Amino acid sequence: MEIEFAGAAREVTGSCHILRVGGKTVLLDCGMFQGRRAESREKNETLPLPVEQIDAIVLSHAHIDHSGRLPFLVRHGYRGPIYCTAATRDLSSVMLADSAHIQEKDAEFLARRNKAVATPLYAMRDAALAVDQMVSLTYDTTFDVVPGVRCTFTDAGHILGSASVALECTEGSQTRRVVFSGDVGRKGLPIIRDPAPPHGADVVLLESTYGNRDHPPVEGAREQLAQVIKAAAAKGGKVLVPAFAVGRTQELVYDLHLLTLDGAIPNIPIFVDSPLAIDATTVFAMHPEIFDQSEDLVQRVQKLFEFVQVQYTRDVNESKALNQRHGPMVIIAASGMMEAGRILHHLANNAADPRTTILVVGFQAEHTLGRRIVEHAPMIRVYGDEIPLRAQVEVLGGYSAHGDRHELQAWLDAVRDGNADKRPPVVHLVHGEPDSQDAFIEQLKAAGYPAVDAPEPHATTVL
Ligand SMILES: [Zn+2]
Ligand SMILES: [Zn+2]
Repeated sequence: MEIEFAGAAREVTGSCHILRVGGKTVLLDCGMFQGRRAESREKNETLPLPVEQIDAIVLSHAHIDHSGRLPFLVRHGYRGPIYCTAATRDLSSVMLADSAHIQEKDAEFLARRNKAVATPLYAMRDAALAVDQMVSLTYDTTFDVVPGVRCTFTDAGHILGSASVALECTEGSQTRRVVFSGDVGRKGLPIIRDPAPPHGADVVLLESTYGNRDHPPVEGAREQLAQVIKAAAAKGGKVLVPAFAVGRTQELVYDLHLLTLDGAIPNIPIFVDSPLAIDATTVFAMHPEIFDQSEDLVQRVQKLFEFVQVQYTRDVNESKALNQRHGPMVIIAASGMMEAGRILHHLANNAADPRTTILVVGFQAEHTLGRRIVEHAPMIRVYGDEIPLRAQVEVLGGYSAHGDRHELQAWLDAVRDGNADKRPPVVHLVHGEPDSQDAFIEQLKAAGYPAVDAPEPHATTVL
């Protein structure tokens, strides 16, 4: 029995791990690499292994850095099952279609620039086929992935439908319990339930996005959001919120809904300016069965995502028309790391205006425009033009959908507590940048986990 770390090894994106048990091969996630364009393209175009060797795939959640290359496997002939939760399947249907569209646009761009034919990584049809191959399972139900591998999903509390994956692997007389954390969320996030760590593990693949950081508490985020909106409304400027279309956007709309009902923010227009976010919001509304029923707003209103101030702008002309309108207003637009999408034209039009507020609510990876903005670069490059960054930049860490180093360790401790004598599992850190992982290794060693490492890409470990 072994695991190969084929993606999200010493980096955050491209989540993909290959589990080999008793002659069968199971893929855990197959996400897109993001970051430097040429480098990611090359990684994305390389299959993690020949598709005919894959017997089954288990998908932790719908974010593109976990699901984005599934259609690429399908394009290369993968016809087996992809196990995930129902909400993950429904979110994937909108996200993979969007991703296919981006791949097609990218290929057109490359073809124009290089004056040669460039094939997209995959097309819309491959995305649709991948969704057709998704088999949905409920949380806390054990099922056979392949002979010798039994799987149970628990709620990862990260985005709607997100799962941590507990795998019971049997080869001959040996049984090993492997837990793949997926992306671990936080207690108290809006809409979704708190993370439910699996009980017990011999080996844990643990995400480590924020292995060297502390987040402000979730409870403070809504309060801070209100402050930013009030200040921006007083200045009369636009509040640009680059947000992941899936998850963060719905949480923001939820909190703005609550703040509006409570009279905590002025009544300024709120635009959700992303067709993907609008589609994802529809999927959220379809899955009340997994909402956190202990939350006030979930109890109070029938429709979480509809209220007078909020408008959904699907049409591109409606989006562009926002450039002619003056603030104050809130514009929530994709993409989260400001690498693509409608947020770019809002930045191009407003980043040089000191009345503008850019409100950053999510992780910004290295080599992205978002990272440059968070670092207050004096000039930013948008659509190939250099523009001065005069807008006010506000960062709300409380909205992180990833646990910080204490929350990650608490999650791991809960897994360990399910072991006999609370024996610490072997821990392999994935889904984190080297600085974060190296600091987290030290923290975990000090906390009584003697066997912790952060495998390099394509390293293999025997279970
Ligand atoms: Zn995620
Ligand atoms: Zn992720």
